[in-house]
Amino acid sequence: MNSRAPINRLDDLVFDNRFVRELPADPETANYRRQVGGACYSLVSPAPVSRPQRVAYSREVADLLDLSAELCESDEFVQVFAGNRLTAGMAPYAICYGGHQFGYWAGQLGDGRAINLGEVVNRRGERWALQLKGAGPTPYSRNADGLAVLRSSIREFLCSEAMFHLGVPTTRALSVIATGDEVIRDMFYNGNPKAEPGAIVCRVAPSFTRFGNFQIFAARNDLALLKQFTDYTIHTDFPHLGEPSPKVYVEWFTEVCRRTAEMIVHWQRVGFVHGVMNTDNMSILGLTIDYGPYGWLENYDPDWTPNTTDAAERRYRFGHQPHIAFWNLGQLANAVYPLIEEVEPLQQAMNQYAETFERGWQAMMAGKLGLVSYRPDVDEELIDELLALLQAAETDMTLFFRRLARMETTDDFLNALTAQSGAGFFGEAYYVPEQLTPDYRRRLSLWLERYVRRLQQDGVADETRRSRMNAVNPKYVLRNYLAQLAIDKAEQGDFDMVNELLELLRRPYDEQPGRELFAARRPDWARTRAGCSMLSCSS
Ligand code: AMP
Ligand code: MG
Repeated sequence: MNSRAPINRLDDLVFDNRFVRELPADPETANYRRQVGGACYSLVSPAPVSRPQRVAYSREVADLLDLSAELCESDEFVQVFAGNRLTAGMAPYAICYGGHQFGYWAGQLGDGRAINLGEVVNRRGERWALQLKGAGPTPYSRNADGLAVLRSSIREFLCSEAMFHLGVPTTRALSVIATGDEVIRDMFYNGNPKAEPGAIVCRVAPSFTRFGNFQIFAARNDLALLKQFTDYTIHTDFPHLGEPSPKVYVEWFTEVCRRTAEMIVHWQRVGFVHGVMNTDNMSILGLTIDYGPYGWLENYDPDWTPNTTDAAERRYRFGHQPHIAFWNLGQLANAVYPLIEEVEPLQQAMNQYAETFERGWQAMMAGKLGLVSYRPDVDEELIDELLALLQAAETDMTLFFRRLARMETTDDFLNALTAQSGAGFFGEAYYVPEQLTPDYRRRLSLWLERYVRRLQQDGVADETRRSRMNAVNPKYVLRNYLAQLAIDKAEQGDFDMVNELLELLRRPYDEQPGRELFAARRPDWARTRAGCSMLSCSS
């Protein structure tokens, strides 16, 4: 291996661009919108921007790429990650994929505004693909401009890193750069277009391959390319599975099912709602990908979705995410069926998704409650009643579980608590005090008693249980209104709050004295404000 010293010039990054080397390219290199057949990608360069300015960068992702702090602070960094300059070894391209959008096959989609720069091999030998989102039109831009606005870029940047630090599988984000150019957006598609500041996020992941990559070749009945792309994916993203064969395709699909289940369990644990779980937004690696109109549950509500585009159907609401992931895997199974030609093993893999999710969800909920393990005979009811209570009075999910960790398991504590109704104990977690009716208080007291009895059976010391609970129940999440406040300031040219949130969210499970304000429940003004409780796909 080379020296461990970080890189000071981006030209020193080592690229090994397997994707373009091993997969067929679109022979057409002119940049106009079209259907691209018989190819996995089109060569296309980022469009130059006028006055790029660094908003923020992630030092953890810079470390993954061996970039020095000086380099990240340099003008060279800004120019390159704004798409104004390519460095030695970059080979920019846009990927062809399709997808089901809101349950319907949408045909060719592709990287309409993402331009891949190539794959960096870092000093540890890890391979990281770099991608600029919002870097200008590509053959896949359809009727859109290929650009991204600052608000959605900040949301993607902060959330990628927040999810990583929460322990949720995700694509990463190196940087967010304001372009200095304006982008026209009609935020709520209601005939009110306005100019907004543009920006570009540099995303980083082992690969950005989506379910829709496989679907497009199957839909076009291009089985040779379907096989070539699947073999490529197994070689690069799943090398431990060995040489592709029908048996290995099944093992591969089974692993995709398992990873997807694990990702969804994490989403349900932290209260993340993706908002647009179309099959083109599902990573083959089980990473959270494409942060658009996502949101974080504030009051626990399984029916909530932040996405106004989905307000009528609520297809992608919080409580429906496990089912939608299953449905999406079914679409992937259909796409890869020609490689396997047997329904039964694909069905079994789908069953594994359901089992992995079910077991994972139970273990996760037990963990949130501080139980040593999930005991179906008693814990199913305990959890059901808790989830009902969280909805009976609007209760902030994050605050509630953090507070619950402070419970003590002595009878004295319990008696004192239930005598004055447990509701006071969770005070700051409630949004509407009038909902704390005598009936609600009675139910809560009964539940608390049951809960404490259950903890007593486990016999774990309170301190030990508390630190276990605080390691899975975050104190700080990217509350929708916090992201919006940071965006409001950034749109005025002040990027401090973006960086403050980035710093905060590096340690989401720690108390972080002095920063408690960032853990507060959503203020009333944010209940109905655009960007805080409702978002559209416009970005
Ligand atoms: P999304 O809903 O963000 O996953 O986007 C669905 C498809 O639309 C993808 O193929 C995107 O690349 C494309 N797309 C979204 N926004 C734009 C844009 N502003 N310009 C070009 N393509 C876009
Ligand atoms: Mg997408």
